[in-house]
Amino acid sequence: MNELERTRQRMVEAHLAQRGITDPKTLEAFRSVPREAFVPDELAEFAYEDTPLPIGEGQTISQPYIVALTASALGLRGGERVLDVGTGSGYSAAVLGRIAKDVYTVERIGALATSARERLERLGYTNVHVRCGDGSLGWPEHAPYDAIAVAASGPKIPEPLLQQLAVGGRLVMPVGPDPSCQTLVRVTRESETSFCQEALEHVQFVPLIGEEGWSEEPRLLRPPRKAPDASVVAKLVREVAEPVEAIESAPVDALLERIGDAKVVLLGESTHGTSEFYRMRARITRELIARRGFSFVAVEADWPDAARIDDYVLGGRRRSTLEFTPFERFPTWMWRNEEVHDFVDWLRAYNADHPERKVGFHGLDLYSLFTSIAAVLHYLDDVDPDAAKVARHRYGALTPWQKDPAAYGEAVLVGRYESSEHAVVAMLREMLERRVEYAQRDGDRFFDAAQNARLVADAERYYRTMYYGSRTSWNLRDEHMYGTLEALLSFYGPDAKGVVWEHNSHVGNAAATEMSVRGEHNVGQLCRTTFGHGAYVIGFGTDHGTVAAASNWDEPMQTMDVRPAHRESYERAFHESGVPALMIHLREPARSAVVEELEPPRLERAIGVIYRPDTELASHYFYATLPHQFDEYVWFDETRAVSPLAVEPRSRADLPETYPFGL
Ligand code: SAM
Repeated sequence: MNELERTRQRMVEAHLAQRGITDPKTLEAFRSVPREAFVPDELAEFAYEDTPLPIGEGQTISQPYIVALTASALGLRGGERVLDVGTGSGYSAAVLGRIAKDVYTVERIGALATSARERLERLGYTNVHVRCGDGSLGWPEHAPYDAIAVAASGPKIPEPLLQQLAVGGRLVMPVGPDPSCQTLVRVTRESETSFCQEALEHVQFVPLIGEEGWSEEPRLLRPPRKAPDASVVAKLVREVAEPVEAIESAPVDALLERIGDAKVVLLGESTHGTSEFYRMRARITRELIARRGFSFVAVEADWPDAARIDDYVLGGRRRSTLEFTPFERFPTWMWRNEEVHDFVDWLRAYNADHPERKVGFHGLDLYSLFTSIAAVLHYLDDVDPDAAKVARHRYGALTPWQKDPAAYGEAVLVGRYESSEHAVVAMLREMLERRVEYAQRDGDRFFDAAQNARLVADAERYYRTMYYGSRTSWNLRDEHMYGTLEALLSFYGPDAKGVVWEHNSHVGNAAATEMSVRGEHNVGQLCRTTFGHGAYVIGFGTDHGTVAAASNWDEPMQTMDVRPAHRESYERAFHESGVPALMIHLREPARSAVVEELEPPRLERAIGVIYRPDTELASHYFYATLPHQFDEYVWFDETRAVSPLAVEPRSRADLPETYPFGL
């Protein structure tokens, strides 16, 4: 076996078998097809990374895991006739050809079809037949097919493909209205007229372009040719917006009506350090809890840190005796501030008055790699000391990187250090396999430990993927946050409803911003895909004032002046309305004129934990289409910085055992 073959076997183990692909035929096929022969020579060294790679003509070879998921979902046993739409490099057709009897594959782009045909011939895949054409219409001459794999995403499953599927056959395809994020679905033809459909996973595929797919390349968000005129929008905003006189007395009945029975309400912020945003989110959240029965609040903070707040608001003792200081990591002011503190105290009092339906507080983020490792070990020490020994060994390889987990990612990438991926994924899998046994002792503690184990697995991957570029790691982080939200919804039961507090860049639909051009998606977009109008997204913005932020990562917080907004921004248009604070409904507004005016892309400002006013245009503005990003927009023309809590709390003796801030 040469080095590349060994790498291939490792890829099959690490990226496929360890991630739950168990079908032996699929694994065997992957072991035998040389992916390096399907990618350009200069990318051969990356052939066994679990990632799509460019193959020319603006197209990509699919990610091995997704090809494997598709192949195993097709349930091939050998001897089938398969249609593969979107040949690309021919790799997935070759894999399918290793299991099935014949594979018919269709590619839209002539140059790709030709090179794939030549490559497959050269490599001896005589049972794979390539044709250039519109695969959204199938390949009727060879129908019916026992299985159909579609490697490009469409708004719906093309009717001709359903008709060319044999009774009993399966089709797997990415589907969804959003060209930048879809659901991989499996359709089984049960009879001549009936089909059964299941969702498999969230995925991101290139578009299926053709008669039964998208009509053209999806339009990328581009800045407008002519600078927008703020005064027209300003006038319309003045006419239709609901003014907010004061946060505490703002009328929110109409807003609650609009939210209706949404399952998730996502509340954004255009900075990580504005008092008004925290207080208005708290106000809306209190109403949602008290009047609409929302079950939990989930915020852009790490799971174990927020778990301390959860213990506190539930009024119980700490679930984990693990000693650590929550919200100690930069940026401390984001959660350790007076505004959050007031809300948390309200929630504790609310829960004390409503013991029958207590409302939880959770963290969605994944930066707490080592606290989460410690939490898993603590849990296993109590419930399963043998498993704790195994966990110590498996997680041990990560501990030298405690101070700088990003350096771990880099060391793995350059081959200086072995990846812990297998180990952390195996740990999670084994904990989940023992779910019933562990949860019987204490379901809440098990859920908490399992979330920490999931965080460890995702964070390990996050730190490794940081070096592939920001898109991959951004998507991974937002997928983790979305996955945590889904886990919470199922933990709280079928009627659960959640409120999410995160930056606008996570909750506003990424498909309506420049992020989609970079191939990034986010929590808001994934919620929109899953819940449709059952997700209600509220963005927040401001023109000027002060903000809590730092100049560089890990530097101290400062109270900085926020510059008045750029003349071509949405913020400027809202500023020109002259209304100091307002809420504006964007989904079905009283007058659609304002949405039409807001639709052409404009600049929008995002201030994170770092603010650099001197390079503001380059570092803080991006193009967006506000009415597609949010269902509602909350505006405060002038705002002030949040008030950070003193690092040392009052006196330890005065505090309840669960007090989460500063201990
Ligand atoms: N499975 C391929 C591989 O392993 O290399 C990669 C597929 S790539 C993600 C999707 C391919 O679908 C692209 O090559 C694209 O040109 C093709 N495609 C898009 N629309 C198509 C259509 N209507 N018919 C056939 N191919 C199409």
